[in-house]
Amino acid sequence: MPDTEYLIIGAGFSGLAMAYRLQEAGQRDFIIYERADELGGTWAANTYPGCACDVPAHVYSFSFEQKPDWSKLFANQPELLAYIKDVAAKHGLENYIQYNRTVTSLSYDKASQIWSVQTDDGKVLKARYVIAAAGPLATPIMPEIEGIDSFTGNLFHSAEWRHDVDLTSKKVAVIGTGASAIQFVPEIVDKVSELKVFQRTAPWVLPRMEREFTEKELDAFRNGPTLSRLLRRWLYWRAEMRAIGFFRHPNLLRIFEWMGRRHLKAQIKNEDLREKLTPDFRFGCKRLLMSNQWYPALNRDKSEVVTAPIKRIVSGGIELDDGRLIEADVIIMGTGFQATEPMPGITVIGREGRDLHGEWREKGAEAYFGSSVAGYPNLFMLLGPNTGLGHNSVVYMAEAQIEGIIRLLQTANEQGTPTVEVTEEAQNDFNADVQERLSKSVWQTGGCDSWYKTADGKNTTIWPGYTFDFRKRATDLPVSAFHLTTAHHSADASAQAAE
Ligand code: NAP
Repeated sequence: MPDTEYLIIGAGFSGLAMAYRLQEAGQRDFIIYERADELGGTWAANTYPGCACDVPAHVYSFSFEQKPDWSKLFANQPELLAYIKDVAAKHGLENYIQYNRTVTSLSYDKASQIWSVQTDDGKVLKARYVIAAAGPLATPIMPEIEGIDSFTGNLFHSAEWRHDVDLTSKKVAVIGTGASAIQFVPEIVDKVSELKVFQRTAPWVLPRMEREFTEKELDAFRNGPTLSRLLRRWLYWRAEMRAIGFFRHPNLLRIFEWMGRRHLKAQIKNEDLREKLTPDFRFGCKRLLMSNQWYPALNRDKSEVVTAPIKRIVSGGIELDDGRLIEADVIIMGTGFQATEPMPGITVIGREGRDLHGEWREKGAEAYFGSSVAGYPNLFMLLGPNTGLGHNSVVYMAEAQIEGIIRLLQTANEQGTPTVEVTEEAQNDFNADVQERLSKSVWQTGGCDSWYKTADGKNTTIWPGYTFDFRKRATDLPVSAFHLTTAHHSADASAQAAE
């Protein structure tokens, strides 16, 4: 007998949505393992100054618990975290969470059809179903730069912000110019004495339509759900309209390039600096960025955009390929997250000793609708391979996956066949289609490297389509795409027959 029917890994947006939906379906026998000491996932981990969501909050929130009175269009981290905590408290989800539990391995036992879930304290829990909601952007990347350990000042990643390090009057070096850096750099520039921003690739940056709601608007939102629901719908469809440029007609994105160049020209008058900051790839190829404060922060007398490649880090700063030494008291890495392979740090052993990360390393991560993988029965991922978005809210994607999983498991249980495994054929067909569609997308043709792709160039992160299409298909998974069994020999037999 398992210790629990369902083990959810992660108490962020998707893990909590899964817990909510299980509860709603009448299930109480589940546990949530959270590696941190609080819930909230990425919104608890990332506390850097200026941390906010660049998807409007009315869309980037749970469908089942809509908050009418977001203080602004783009909520900042404290407001998002407070919201997630409120939702968890309201639905009693905290009662299911065990904190400081880092899952290190998952191992499937074919005879009992049960997963063994090992945590870093050596404890092993047995679960019938595992739902990995560990977050697609949860593991920060520290770049492998020679000499990184020899630096004698403070060095930290933006996702592990050192609030105890006072940046006042310090020489600060920032490595990276992605979505995180463009948020925290403008927040720290006033404090520091010198700011050096190390830019490897100039990103496209568009104006951010900042908007704080007035008291009058908030009252109107609070008066009834209609207005905020209409806003949610409108924001969703407005974002969805962009998708066609990303995955079908990248030429349509030229309008955004024009807007980006205009934004740059309006904010940076110095031609040399402007040239440095002008992207050399198609808009949308990397994650689109929005900021009204990024360029002005780089335009300050105390700021410098350093584009010469980094040679090594030394005790007092950063040495460049051109021989220059940039002195620094503090180095902040805005160098992103490990994204191309979900569940980093968790060894996953499936049927017949199959090793999920080993398989993924050979061919790139893939799954069926980002959640199920052949060879790994009763394991589901939320926001797994090819469910990321360049244009809309991933909360919507996770909720669609959850609905699909719940319905599938209901069918399986009604049939008395609780073991569920996607067929190799369904998974292969699905991924062939995803890769075919990606091949025409801006992410593959736009002339950039990005965290969306593996070192071989395979895009394992992005959903190349409309989110409503994903929702329609992922919520209504064909039962024929799965082996539903009571015992594994029959799944194995049909898997072999399909090969
Ligand atoms: P990122 O977009 O991956 O950016 C990493 C930056 O570090 C890039 O500029 C990269 O340069 C640079 N870099 C990496 N390794 C380097 C090295 N060895 N030397 C020099 N430069 C190096 O990471 P992020 O800014 O943390 O954002 C990651 C994702 O998190 C975003 O795309 C977004 O999906 C999410 N996020 C969202 C929000 C939000 O508002 N919703 C906010 C923050 C983050 P290259 O471009 O040349 O590779």
